[in-house]
Order: sequence, then C-alpha cells, then structure tokens
Amino acid sequence: MPTFAPDILAAKVALVTGGGTGIGKEIARTFGRHGARLCIAARRQDVLEATKEEFEREGFECLAVPCDVRQPDQVERVLEETLARFGRLDILVNNAAGNFPAPMAGISYNGFKSIVDIDLLGTYNVSKAAFDAWLGEHGGNIVNISAPFEQMGAAYQAHVAAAKSGVNSLTRTCAVEWGPKGIRTNAVAPGAISDTEGLERFDAVDDASNLSAPLRRPGSKQEIADTVLFLVSDAASYVNGQVIYVDGGSGVDAMKLPPL
Ligand code: NAP
Repeated sequence: MPTFAPDILAAKVALVTGGGTGIGKEIARTFGRHGARLCIAARRQDVLEATKEEFEREGFECLAVPCDVRQPDQVERVLEETLARFGRLDILVNNAAGNFPAPMAGISYNGFKSIVDIDLLGTYNVSKAAFDAWLGEHGGNIVNISAPFEQMGAAYQAHVAAAKSGVNSLTRTCAVEWGPKGIRTNAVAPGAISDTEGLERFDAVDDASNLSAPLRRPGSKQEIADTVLFLVSDAASYVNGQVIYVDGGSGVDAMKLPPL
C-alpha cells in the first residue's frame, strides 16, 4: 500500500538532475508513480535514454536531456526543452553530484575543484536557470540532495563535505530570498544508501558504518525518494529552508557504541 496518494503530483512537471541513475532515478520514478511528468538530465546520453525508456514502459512521460550542470549554456537548454515539451516546471531536484573517496592530501587541485563545481556550482546553476526561466514567476519547489557532513569532519570526503555544506547554505539562502516568490527550497541529506554507486565507492567503510548506525542497516533509495516526495507535496507546505537528515540517526549518535 503506497504511503502517498497516487495522484499527489498529477499535472506537475519535475526536473531531476542526475535522474538517470541511483537515488535521482528513484526520486524521478517515485514522482512518475505519483502523476508527475519528468525531465531527467545528466552527462551520459545512453544511460539517460535507457532510464527514459524504462520510465516510459512504466507509463510515465519523460524527457531526457544530456547536460553537464557545470555549463550554464547546457543547463539553460534543459530548461528551454522542458518548458517547450511540458509548458511548465513545478519541481527541481538538484541531485547530480560527483564523488571519489580520498584523503585530503591525496585529492588533486583539479579533483577538488571538479567536485565543488558539480555539487555546489551545479546546484547554483540549475537553480538560477530554473528561477529565471519559470519558478521566479510561478513558484514551485526545489530540493537539493546534500550529505550529512555539515556538522562533522568527514575523512576521505573533504571535497564533498565542503561542497555539500555550501549546498546547505544555498538551500537556506534560496528559502529566504525566493520564499516570497512562492518557492520552497529544502535539502535532503542521505546517510549510507544501499545499492548506489555512491555507497559502492565506499566498500571499505560500508560494513562498519552500517553496523554502527542506530538502525543497524543502510537506508534505501526509496526512503530518500519518499522524503523528497513529502517535501514537494502540500503536506510540507510550510517547510522551507530545512536540511532533513535521512540517515537512520547516525548523525546524532555521539558514542557510536555497538548494540546495547
Ligand atoms: P550516482 O548514481 O553516481 O548519481 C550521480 C548522478 O549525477 C549520475 O546520474 C551522474 O550521471 C550525474 N552527474 C554527475 N556529474 C554530473 C554533471 N557534471 N552534470 C550532470 N550530471 C552529473 O550516485 P548516488 O549515490 O545515487 O548519488 C545521488 C545523490 O545522493 C548525490 O547528490 C550524492 O552526493 C547524494 N548522496 C548519496 C549517498 C549514498 O549513499 N549513495 C549518501 C549521501 C549523499 P552522469 O555521470 O551521466 O553525468
């Protein structure tokens, strides 16, 4: 039995960056199952096309536009194509991100810049383009996919932690500046999520972190998608500027003790 009514996003249009794989794909699919029409955007056209075909087989309307979120001209084209196809935009999910685990001294200058460019500047680029093209005049919802690093030091994640802290800051600024325009902006910070490329890159720490998490398991992509669905739904109509940690309580576990 689905948690949310199947038509809560009927007639809505959602753009999900990085929507061809992993968490972004599950978010897009969940939106589709609840009535939304979809645009997914990322760099690899073959991956996007395969996901689009999968979604169409599931009965969703889906546009797939190749785009590097670091390039404003490519981002603007995504907005143009979305509006040309669907005539509106209601929801933007900034999910596209890069990651590779490495100690800070082992990250190259270019590697650090690349992650900040994709995660933070990419979020800014797509948010600004969506605001200029549609949301600024009509309102809507933005959800940024972050990570639960802001309050902690995160070994092997200096680049991602810095970028996602910036994303959280941007989330709060958008909430304040764009709230009066009818735009709610929130962020979701997933903990370790199973069956994702993100987590596979962390094989070495996977078992240990899952065992020490208060719920003693990783999260699922569906649990992230359901939180995003809640945030873009009318059930969250007064939620704005929040970073929701969906990490099974790992972020509030100061002692990290084995099961009591
Ligand atoms: P993923 O499958 O690697 O998703 C990243 C997506 O972003 C891919 O579809 C990728 O497609 C796209 N992307 C990367 N660089 C891009 C660029 N320059 N322009 C446009 N698209 C780009 O990883 P995931 O684990 O599902 O991660 C999804 C989100 O969750 C990310 O924001 C990540 O930081 C966050 N997160 C994940 C976890 C986890 O446990 N998995 C935990 C915390 C936070 P292309 O390569 O085709 O461009």
